[in-house]
Amino acid sequence: MKSEFFYKYPKTLLNKGTGFLADYTHSLNPYTGCSFACSYCYVRQMPVSTFRKKEWGTWIDIKKEAANLLRKELKRAKSKGKVTIFMSSSTDPYQPIEHKEKVTRSLLEVMVEEPPDFLFIQTRSPLVGRDIDLLLSLEERVRVSMTIETDREDIRKHFTPHAPPIQARLQTLQLLADAGVPTQTTIAPLLPSSEEFPKKLIKLVDRICIDDYFMGDGSGGRRTRNLGIESLYQELNVGEWYDPTAYQLVYDRFKRVFPGDQVLLSQKGFAPY
Ligand code: SF4
Repeated sequence: MKSEFFYKYPKTLLNKGTGFLADYTHSLNPYTGCSFACSYCYVRQMPVSTFRKKEWGTWIDIKKEAANLLRKELKRAKSKGKVTIFMSSSTDPYQPIEHKEKVTRSLLEVMVEEPPDFLFIQTRSPLVGRDIDLLLSLEERVRVSMTIETDREDIRKHFTPHAPPIQARLQTLQLLADAGVPTQTTIAPLLPSSEEFPKKLIKLVDRICIDDYFMGDGSGGRRTRNLGIESLYQELNVGEWYDPTAYQLVYDRFKRVFPGDQVLLSQKGFAPY
C-alpha cells in the first residue's frame, strides 16, 4: 500500500504490558501505523488509528532517536527487575520502510548490548531474516513468531493484499530454523486453510499459536464486527469460517500432527517461553 511517512521524536518507547500482553513487562513499537494494512487489523479500531482520521496503512510514523531512548529506558527497567518485551503489538516491526530506516534493527542492537530477559518478535515479514546475526546473539532470550494465518495464497490475497506472500514467510522460517533462532508460527487471526497446513509447518517450528477474532481482538469479536470483516468471508462463500467454533477444526488438525503441548490457544501462545 502507498503510505505517507512522518518522522517523530517519541518521549517513551517501552510501554507497560497490560491486558492481552499482561504476561510481558513491556510492549515496544518501532513505528506507529503499518503499511501492510490488513483488512482485519484490530488496531484500525483503536485510538491510535481513529484519531488520525486517515485510512489505516496510508500513514506511518517513524520513531527517530529510538535506539538512544531505548538504551536509557531498558537500563532503568532492568534496574527494577525482570524485563520481558513484546515487539510489536500495534505495528509490524519489519514492514517495508524498515528496509530503509532500520529502526527495528537499531533497537535489536541495543538489546544485544543490554539484553532483556526475553524478547518476543511478532511479524509477518521475511525482512526479519536480515537480522539473524543479532537474533543469534540474543540466544534463548528471543523468539520470532511468524504470523501465517492460512496456507492458501488466494485467501491471503483476499484478506491482506498488501502483506507478504505465504511462501516467503515459510522460506524465512526455514532460514531462521536452519540458523538456530527460536521460532513459532502464529495462526492469527485464523483464516480458512487446507488440511495440509500442519504438514507444511512441522519441520519448521516447535510451537503453534492459534487465535481468532473472538478470543483475541481484545473485545470478544466486537472490534472485528465493527470493521465488517464478515462480508469478506461471504464474498468467497466461506462464511462458516467466521464463527467462534471454527478454530476447533484447525486446532484438531494441528494436534494430529504436532505434539499436544506445542499447540497453544490465544494468549497462552503469545506468552514468554
Ligand atoms: S501487520 Fe499487524 S499491525 Fe500491520 S496491519 Fe497487519 S495486523 Fe495490523
